[in-house]
Order: sequence, then C-alpha cells, then structure tokens
Amino acid sequence: MTDLTSLTLADAREGLTQKSFTALELTDAHLAAMEKARVLNAYVLETPEQAREQARAADATIAKGEAGPLAGIPLGIKDLFATTGVRATACSKILGNFIPQYESTVTSQLWRDGAVMLGKLNCDEFAMGSSNETSAFGPVVNPWRREGSDASLVPGGSSGGSASAVAANLCLGATGTDTGGSIRQPAAFTGIVGIKPTYGRCSRWGIVAFASSLDQAGPFARTVRDTAILMRSMAGHDPKDTTSVDRPVPDYEAAIGKSVKGMRIGIPKEYRLDGMSGEIDRLWAQGAEWLKAAGAELVEVSLPHTKYALPAYYVVAPAEASSNLARYDGVRYGARVNGKNIVEMYENTRAEGFGAEVRRRVMIGTYVLSAGYYDAYYLRAQKVRTLIKKDFEDVFAKGVHAILTPATPSAAFGIGEKGKADPIEMYLNDIFTVTVNMAGLPGIAVPAGTDGQGLPLGLQLIGRPFDEETLFSLGEVIEQAAGHFTANKWWA
Ligand code: GLN
Repeated sequence: MTDLTSLTLADAREGLTQKSFTALELTDAHLAAMEKARVLNAYVLETPEQAREQARAADATIAKGEAGPLAGIPLGIKDLFATTGVRATACSKILGNFIPQYESTVTSQLWRDGAVMLGKLNCDEFAMGSSNETSAFGPVVNPWRREGSDASLVPGGSSGGSASAVAANLCLGATGTDTGGSIRQPAAFTGIVGIKPTYGRCSRWGIVAFASSLDQAGPFARTVRDTAILMRSMAGHDPKDTTSVDRPVPDYEAAIGKSVKGMRIGIPKEYRLDGMSGEIDRLWAQGAEWLKAAGAELVEVSLPHTKYALPAYYVVAPAEASSNLARYDGVRYGARVNGKNIVEMYENTRAEGFGAEVRRRVMIGTYVLSAGYYDAYYLRAQKVRTLIKKDFEDVFAKGVHAILTPATPSAAFGIGEKGKADPIEMYLNDIFTVTVNMAGLPGIAVPAGTDGQGLPLGLQLIGRPFDEETLFSLGEVIEQAAGHFTANKWWA
C-alpha cells in the first residue's frame, strides 16, 4: 500500500470514499509518523486516543453513507485554538495546564464535518514571532535543510508547528492563525500552501486573542485544492464573534481549475525593495510569467503607503495585545506565582509567565496607548492603516482582480540566527504580509521555487475582500507551473 501520510487531502478523501483504506488506518499511519518525527517538535500535545475515537466514528458515517465533507481526515490544530477537554496553552507558560471547557468555532466546524484531531501544534508564544522560537515548548524544526548542511532551520512563525507538520506529512492539513503573516510566511518557508482569509470570514471565537482587529484563522495544506477544501469547513458566520461576517460560504474547491483568462493582476512597484535578493526578484517575475501564460494580464500598480505598514503594524498589534493579555493575571487561568499581596501576585505571575518577546510587546503596547502618547502613536498608526486600506481599494477599483508579490524577503533561516541583538531584524520578515492584515484582505502563499541552497520560496497573491475564490484559481495556476516541493526525509 502507498504511504498514507503522503496523500493529498483530496486523494485521501477519495480513498476513504472508495474504501481503499479506513479512517482508522489513515489516522494510525499519521500517529506512527508523528512518533518518529518528534525531533521536529511540531506537536506540543499528541491526542491519539481522541484521534482514534474520531476516526472510528468517521468510519461509521462512511459505512452508512452519511460522511461529512472531511470525514476521517486527520488534522493538526495550532495550540491557539480552544479544544474542549484538551490542553490549550498558546505555547505560553502563563496558561500552564489550561484545559478549555469549550471548543473554538473553527475547530468545532471541522469536527462537525468529520475531521480527526491528531494533536495540538507548536507556535510562537501568543502567536508573536516569525520563527517559532518564542514558544515555551522550544523551537520547531523545519523539515527542510540547506543543501549539504544539517543545520536546523526555523519553519517560520508564528504557526511554525502547523507548517512543519504539514510539510513533513504529520497531518493532511492544519489550522493556523495570521495576524501579520503567521500563515503565509511559514507556508513559504516550508514549501506548502497557506491562506489568510478576509477578516471576518472565519470566526475568532475560542481562539486565543493576539490583536483582535488583525487576527484571522486559516488553513495550511500541501496543495491549493486542499486548502480550499479546508476553508469551506472553517469559514462561516458566527453570532459569537461580532466581527464575523454573515455571507454564504462558497464551494471554494469549485474555483480550482477555473480559467484566469482576462484577469488583471497588479504588480506593486513598492514591493521591489532595495537590496532584495535576485532570487526573490526572479521568482516574482517567473510567477508573473506563469499567470500571463494562463491568460492573465499584468499591470503595474502603486500602493504608496506600503513603507509605513510595518511600523504601523508594530504599534497597532502590540497595543491590542497589551489589552488582550491583561486577562492573564494569575486569577482566572493557568499559572500563578504568589506574592505578599494581590498586586505582587499579578506582577510575579506575569513576569514569570510571559516570555521576553511577549513582555516586550506588552510594554510597547502599554506605552503607545498611554495618555500623552496615544495620539502620537496609536491614533497615528490607525490613520496610516486607513491609508493602506485605501491604497488597495484604489487599485481594486481600477479593475485589478488580485495582486502578486513575494511572500517573504528570504528563504528559511537558521535557528538562533536572527533577531537576537535587534528584534527588528525578525520583524522585517513580515514586510510583504502585514499590509494584508492591516487592510483586512485575503492573501494566499503558494510555493513557487527554490533558492540557491535548495530551500523553498513562496509567492503571495492578495485578493479583494471575500474573493478567496480568485486566489484559489490563480494559486493553482502557479502550483501547476511550479510543481510540488517535498523535503528530504532525514528524521525517520
Ligand atoms: N510575525 C508577526 C508578529 O510577530 C505576525 C505574527 C502573526 O501573524 N501572528 O507580530
């Protein structure tokens, strides 16, 4: 029998329907692969018992002809999602052994449709990071290595466990969240597909909040089609999240293979950075060529406020984070470190429970929101945000269907290699992705090539609000042209 873990989600779905194998066999194959891949540190919690129980239930629905759209599909869940009765920590010490009494809306929809949870995936602490190095559970290892080297590389972040697990065949798909690039950047670093939907497309209810006006859940998978399949289950209106939007969820999979002839693709000149590597530039030009060959028309566009996006993001995101993280006080959740009085208890708990990057964000956020600085920083950043959004609106108003950019300014880097002396070095990873969150738009990262050291590189497509379908159609054109990227299996 073929290795069940190397199937695409769509092929696994077909195999289950045809009864070529059972959901239990498919789940067991993944659990076995996970056991042999612990060196990657992708999962922070494996849930084999629940997984087998869900797989058996899926087999029963398949036998009765009542299978849901994801019946028996084994998935990994970022540890930012609340899962009933299963530890959720946001990869922070401060949540300790927090076991939620409720399920996030997005994951509940996956289980409703028959999916199987293999476990919880590692991520940066409270999703703050671009390398998965801020996790309380330690860094995640990218399954990819530079040619001729056995140095461990980061998988990107914050959804590094999700990306690494999907790329290493430790699940058929995974959930992620993206506040400034946390789905698209790790997807690009590991040679897989990841999409951040339009803000409001997926419910944020039951997902640990980082920056509520930017946070959005989305899927990772090894093909564009597979992400489209997952999106349909994850998306939808939820009265429990007032920012979720009440619009019908389309059959995203139907967008795969649709002609892109006549579509206008914007190439933003501001994304051509000084000192950008020739490799990234060539990849970008190649992507544009592929879309052109498929009948799309390329147009140069201008997004003049792009250069302010990163600084504005690093005001808005920490501001919201400092407010959201105020709830971790040692009283209501997780860990507590006692003190002489309640104030000292708060201080001790937060000093002990939060890692360095989270403490930095809380301090920045508190500062930019404080009296006297609010107007100079927070209010100004919000104004910049409006201008960034307007840049995109102007481009789309000219009949542009989607915008093509690189996903990241480089390929994956080594663990410990970046951001030690200067955190801004790490923040610069998100230069191409944060604008999309600031504008609330959908963005997909699709693997498109490799760098000189054999590491995967991705392209990003940015779409009009709620037009994820166009991103799936265009993304698949790039995928067809670029082919698939698989890491050499050195870990098992
Ligand atoms: N890397 C960015 C940050 O650290 C984005 C993280 C995210 O999207 N969750 O803020």
